[in-house]
Amino acid sequence: MLEVKDLHVTIEDKVILKGLNLTINAGEVHAIMGPNGAGKSTLSAVIAGKDGYEVTQGTILFEGQDVLEMEIEERARAGLLLGFQYPIEIPGVKNIYLLKAALNAQRAARGEGEIPAPEFMKLVREKSAEMKMDPSFLQRAVNEGFSGGEKKRNEILQMLILQPKLAMLDEIDSGLDIDAMKVVADGVNSLRNADRAILLVTHYQRLLNHIVPDHVHVLVDGRIVKSGGKELALELEDRGYDWVLEESVA
Ligand code: ADP
Ligand code: MG
Repeated sequence: MLEVKDLHVTIEDKVILKGLNLTINAGEVHAIMGPNGAGKSTLSAVIAGKDGYEVTQGTILFEGQDVLEMEIEERARAGLLLGFQYPIEIPGVKNIYLLKAALNAQRAARGEGEIPAPEFMKLVREKSAEMKMDPSFLQRAVNEGFSGGEKKRNEILQMLILQPKLAMLDEIDSGLDIDAMKVVADGVNSLRNADRAILLVTHYQRLLNHIVPDHVHVLVDGRIVKSGGKELALELEDRGYDWVLEESVA
């Protein structure tokens, strides 16, 4: 589904990613872990198409298509979706309208008509209940005045409605108490299926107790220096990141 090869990325002349390789197949959940400043957020942002990053070398293919040639909207319509570490507030735009507009844009791209209002309402109610969000959140401006945990739940709500092929979640667990994390993790788990892939960026192992990944990668200084199964996350929790680096340069 996703193939990142030899990716080099700079931000304002600072080299962040230095030859990163990553392959994700449909149905898989991958976790990217690593110390602060390693380039984890940069990786997911570049895949999603956020501005401000310069790809100086390498390729990103999504279902065989060259992602770097696609605009951010095209990527989203193709099914690439990024949930943010710091979800943005959009004053004046009701949450429910954003959800509907995003869903309809996606349907239009597939040559489908707009979703009928009753069907949309049913879908939104059902999914907000799954995220334990009071329906009043749908009528509020997007993320405005939402607590950290409410914003994260809202990000997952978007995913439950838009059903991306590749869902990327950057530090979705940051700022969540244990109950909110459980709700968010359940939401993410309900996204899991054979046709979809999930990329989790996190530096805490605790999230991975709730969303058990198939593959864990350690990103240090712009490269993936080690990959393994879910047990690697436990080892990192135990031993930190230094030993991985030492191993990788040895
Ligand atoms: P991580 O998510 O692993 O903590 P990031 O991808 O956010 O790391 O950042 C990697 C490096 O890029 C950090 O050193 C950070 O300071 C730098 N960086 C990120 N965004 C910018 C920016 N807009 N301008 C300059 N440097 C940036
Ligand atoms: Mg980050």
